[in-house]
Amino acid sequence: MENTAALEIEKIRQDFPILHQEVNGKPLIYFDNAATSQKPRVVIEALDTYYTKNNANIHRGAHYLAAKSTADYESTREAIRQFLHAAQVEEIIFTRGVTEAVNLVASTWGRKFIQEGDEIILTEMEHHSNIVPWQLLAEEKGALLKVVPITDQGELILEAFQALLSPRTKLVSVVHVSNALGTVNPVQEIIRQAHQAGAVVFVDGAQASVHLEIDVQALDCDFYAFSGHKVYAPTGIGALYGKRAWLEQMPPYHGGGEMIKEVSFSRTTYNEIPHKFEAGTPNIADAIAFKNALDYVNQLGKNRIAAHEADLLAYATARLQEIPGLQIVGTATEKISVISFVIAGAHHGDLGTLLDMQGIAIRTGHHCTQPLMQRLGLSGTARVSFALYNTRQEIDALMVALQKAVRMLA
Ligand SMILES: *Cc1c(COP(=O)(O)O)cnc(C)c1O
Repeated sequence: MENTAALEIEKIRQDFPILHQEVNGKPLIYFDNAATSQKPRVVIEALDTYYTKNNANIHRGAHYLAAKSTADYESTREAIRQFLHAAQVEEIIFTRGVTEAVNLVASTWGRKFIQEGDEIILTEMEHHSNIVPWQLLAEEKGALLKVVPITDQGELILEAFQALLSPRTKLVSVVHVSNALGTVNPVQEIIRQAHQAGAVVFVDGAQASVHLEIDVQALDCDFYAFSGHKVYAPTGIGALYGKRAWLEQMPPYHGGGEMIKEVSFSRTTYNEIPHKFEAGTPNIADAIAFKNALDYVNQLGKNRIAAHEADLLAYATARLQEIPGLQIVGTATEKISVISFVIAGAHHGDLGTLLDMQGIAIRTGHHCTQPLMQRLGLSGTARVSFALYNTRQEIDALMVALQKAVRMLA
């Protein structure tokens, strides 16, 4: 039976060594989880174990350590398959993260299937990493980018999306959960409509993967990407899911070792998927520790983590509004774990600095979503974002520090 008991947060916090330190003479409060999450001890120890006991190159050595590293690396791939509910393990490609995944799809699928006059639909709330690679592709191919507008609350306008879909639409690339607003987009409906119009769909799951249950088969998306470092795993490792039928038709990404079957100067044949897309020695250590992070999340239970984070979001949303002149940016009905805000008369950058002096880490600025900031008429926002180890007490401390900062800036 599914465990629905509340998480024991104080016990969980003991798993994260970094949280137990002072910053600027104050206990660290880390509210920048949408930028990157902190790592539990099991992940840190997995890296140590890899380098002290198991380090060897994978997929080619004929010795014990090579076999062990290969097995561990491949068992992370299987863990990712389960995490995304993908049908086949060959549909999981290791990347450095979402940014590399978008670039991979743009330069392989995109190079092959996008032609002059084709249209690519994005949304106003995309992260730069889900804009620029498509822009580069569109420039190269003479394709056009179309953009789905949002409401002032930060929700996609689905009627406008429908109106943009046409036989020229070849690709729709959409963020599952906005890193700047916390909006959860109705990706299932978007995918359904896009497919009806004959378009392929890429989903940026950088924020969604850590907070929501992901099922790529139920979604029926063609591609889904996420970054390890936002789900308590190391930096420099992530994954791309792609439907087998697409992956098999796509040309390779990088050329080199591992992605080939046979090489001669007249002709090279490529390896099977997923290895076709994994040229060279990969980030073995971080890939292996990635599994420890996913196991950690699964053991606690995504449903229990989500319940805790929903409580933090509701509590912080209510408390922040006690501050005169504070306006929450992004008030979508479906929203998770992120609160962006501005305060009249207080620049977001100054707020960030003053909070940092009190040991509180938040993010300020455009959050790699400059087109979204332009749409909202803002130069940036202050953003707090929650993870499983945050507490209501930390939100109370944020309130005290924020009130102090506002007094200083007034
Ligand atoms: C963090 C983030 C990205 C980029 O991920 P990287 O890990 O930097 O490659 C893309 N989209 C969203 C929504 C993000 O939050």
